[in-house]
Amino acid sequence: MYEHPDQSWRSQPTRMSTGTTTLLGARLREYVELRKLRQVLVIAHGGEPTLHGASAIDEFFGALRASMNGSNCRLSLGMQTNGTLVTPDIVDVLRRHGAVAGVSLDGPQNVNDVFRVTKSGQGSYESVMAGVTLLAAASPGGSVFGGYLSVANPDIPPVRAFEFFESLNAPAADFLLPDFNHDTYPYSKWPTGTFGAWLAELFDIWITSGSRMDIRTLSCVMRLILGGKYGYDSLGPKSRGLLVIETDGAYHAVDSLKSAYEGVTDIGKCLESHPIASAEGHPLVLALSDKSSAASTSCLDCSVWEVCGGGYLPHRFSASSGFNHESVYCQDLKHLIGHVASYLRGQGLPATAIRPVTTGGTR
Ligand code: SF4
Repeated sequence: MYEHPDQSWRSQPTRMSTGTTTLLGARLREYVELRKLRQVLVIAHGGEPTLHGASAIDEFFGALRASMNGSNCRLSLGMQTNGTLVTPDIVDVLRRHGAVAGVSLDGPQNVNDVFRVTKSGQGSYESVMAGVTLLAAASPGGSVFGGYLSVANPDIPPVRAFEFFESLNAPAADFLLPDFNHDTYPYSKWPTGTFGAWLAELFDIWITSGSRMDIRTLSCVMRLILGGKYGYDSLGPKSRGLLVIETDGAYHAVDSLKSAYEGVTDIGKCLESHPIASAEGHPLVLALSDKSSAASTSCLDCSVWEVCGGGYLPHRFSASSGFNHESVYCQDLKHLIGHVASYLRGQGLPATAIRPVTTGGTR
């Protein structure tokens, strides 16, 4: 986020004030009652939430829990962290609030330490692992470790990436497609189709391994091919919806859109001025929950639309025509979806259980 074209983080407070947190709790309560929601998930994201220490995280989660007292809606809490500053006190706060932490890790030490470095330039791998050990400790009170978030990297063979995360006994790991768009994709380094082939090979390794580790991208593709209705922000024509609340209380669209241009995520409303429901209809917010609202014609006509959903919105951007494109990973997604569909067809499931996914181009 800090290196994307949108540099609006520079004008944000480094943490959410107590007053803004209280207002967030009130707006959240108002929203879940309006929409009669049974569950809502709030993830403390950064930046790096652990920079603020255990008591600030405790205060943040505590205010949100208090706002839901007596509500029929279940509040799930999470935190995305780089893992380097996790302390026993932070783990204790997460346990008390029933929160789960996901940890960002790029892979084995020699890979992770290329980009993930501390302020002094040292690789962060060892301190990440120390943090994960604390989060995943089984006692007292059980693990609060949710799994790893990684970025797909074709420079690492899929078998090596899989075996690495599997060796860490992770309950889950995901491999996100890098946030390139039509203007920034490095075609000379990774020709079109590189990521699709990489993910398809990862799928074969994972599915035949009997691993208990969930890989969200792959399990989601399977679920959608088998008729699932909801994907998440990167896959499927519908997701449960996502809104970012910045530290100053402003509503923003998903932060990875900051890879497009300055100010792209700001929707011009905030906790103080508007209820959360007023942000639902903004085109860049709606484009993640109901992907058909902003999909290109070629995506809406595509044979794998019900699984792909046009790919991730930031991957569709080009300066010349905005988001009205298929994903820059279009061929990769088609390849992966076709590959997984072939596997499922070979499992003896009734034909009606599998969406009629073909990958021979558009219908
Ligand atoms: S595979 Fe390509 S054309 Fe089809 S929905 Fe996905 S991005 Fe759009």
